[in-house]
Amino acid sequence: MRCPNEGPVVSTDWLIAVTLGSFVMAGIGLLFVIVWGVDRGRTCALYFAGAIAVYSAGTVALSVPTTTALASSIHGVLFPIAMVMLAEGLLRRVGYRLPRLTVLAYLVAMITIVWAFAYLSPLLVGRVVTQNLGTALLLLGVARRLWARIPKTGPDRAALISTVALAASLGAGVVVAPFSAVPREIRTPADLDSYMQSNLELCLIVAVTVVLPACMVTLLAVTVVDMVQELRSQRDCDELTGLLNRRGFKRRAEVELRSAERSVMVLADMDFFKAVNDALGHAGGDAVLTAFAQILTEPPLDGRIVGRIGGEEFAVLLPHVGLPSAVEWAESVRHRIAGGAPAIGGGMTVTASFGIAPADSRSQLTELLETADKALYKAKLGGRNQIVVSSSPTPKSANLDGNDAGTAART
Ligand code: GH3
Ligand code: MG
Ligand code: MG
Repeated sequence: MRCPNEGPVVSTDWLIAVTLGSFVMAGIGLLFVIVWGVDRGRTCALYFAGAIAVYSAGTVALSVPTTTALASSIHGVLFPIAMVMLAEGLLRRVGYRLPRLTVLAYLVAMITIVWAFAYLSPLLVGRVVTQNLGTALLLLGVARRLWARIPKTGPDRAALISTVALAASLGAGVVVAPFSAVPREIRTPADLDSYMQSNLELCLIVAVTVVLPACMVTLLAVTVVDMVQELRSQRDCDELTGLLNRRGFKRRAEVELRSAERSVMVLADMDFFKAVNDALGHAGGDAVLTAFAQILTEPPLDGRIVGRIGGEEFAVLLPHVGLPSAVEWAESVRHRIAGGAPAIGGGMTVTASFGIAPADSRSQLTELLETADKALYKAKLGGRNQIVVSSSPTPKSANLDGNDAGTAART
């Protein structure tokens, strides 16, 4: 991206800025490697670290005392490879990849054009514009893909913005190139001085010493946030069913309970599950639990919060829902299981009991769960495969059809 320098006259400010930028980049590269060491599955971190390493090697190549053509050619190979690694990391972060053909075509085109501007028709501005334009287009292509595919949440948005910012800063170099007094090649100290004072070099210095390190710092922060978010969701998630676990359910339900004017808590417990395990085996029991979880999360969810809060015990908070609708929903779930919903029980009749408790925005989650649990206990005592509603002052039975549920208990 920068020009190879020859001769002894080098602006000290420029050197300090570039050296500082290189130190920052090296530090970020090291942190990416550490992040990858902690979480080996996060290959994007390795690609970002690789991009920094290859980019730095390319920058060093420009300072090696050799011919301008050779130094430019080495840089012309390393720089596009670094940018491909950066693009690949950005896409891998969200589960995509750069098509191999695109990578090949991009590298061959970039390396060939830079080589031609180094040996066939030596032209400094030609090499710089080629590399900047090629990288800007590559990054804009990546940004377009990110924009189309990813949810626009905080980290995704930050990654997208930094990608576009880097593309724009490199693109700015292309725009100002025609208005810059750049020598054809840098052969004398005077050539170097005039290049250093050109608008093009100013753009490149801003791009490599400000925008590029800022972009990599952002990507490092984004990668760490990704890790934290993943750990948090693992902490709150039930591995078997994919539902919230007890902790996750409580966290989400507490927030929802406070914000909704009215809600209903439904507790469900599989009946005689020990016997189900005995009959189907533990794996069969697991399959029943997973199928039951699917029924509980069938759309429309309407803000429904569903958790597996115990072995074969589930909790569902229905915010902004009245008691009759909640009972109707629970009844439909009970029917589907007892009626042998697909994948439930493999021919064996499996049932569940339900305890329901209504709430308002002042209700405490712990008390609400206790109330629903008492109703559930009564449903068990009442013969199972039924729904019991706990309500004040007159508790109501919610065994709507009564034909296969026995007598519902009353609170
Ligand atoms: P009740 O009708 O009174 O609820 O009887 P139950 O047998 O369902 O209740 P109990 O609490 O006595 O037993 C629950 C059983 O659920 C015991 C345990 O082996 C089984 N269980 C708990 N977690 C899992 C799980 O993750 N997978 C499987 N397959 N079984 C589980
Ligand atoms: Mg049970
Ligand atoms: Mg139980």
